[in-house]
Amino acid sequence: MSFYGVIESYKNIDIDRYMNNVTDEDVIKSLSKENLDEYDLLNLLSKKASNYLEEMAQKANKITNQYFGKTICLYTPMYIANYCINKCVYCGYNLESKIKRKSLIWKK
Ligand code: SF4
Repeated sequence: MSFYGVIESYKNIDIDRYMNNVTDEDVIKSLSKENLDEYDLLNLLSKKASNYLEEMAQKANKITNQYFGKTICLYTPMYIANYCINKCVYCGYNLESKIKRKSLIWKK
């Protein structure tokens, strides 16, 4: 399922109402499943789930090891210009920054 499909799957769920009614049993059941659905995600993000942080951390560690093994991945973006049309508040390249703009892309 695409990310858009995931977002669409939540469209008809009253999320506040659902999350306020999550029980310990819902959280435990979600933690025991291999394949989680959209309701499991809500269960694990609910206030009730805060009592199960260690169990969630262990499950997350298991899944991470299953997919990636014992690796550490580092990456860094390589900028070839500091032009940007966005306004991410944490970024010095954002549209509203009063900086001198440069591009390493050769233009005719
Ligand atoms: S403002 Fe910064 S972080 Fe946001 S899209 Fe532009 S370059 Fe990326």
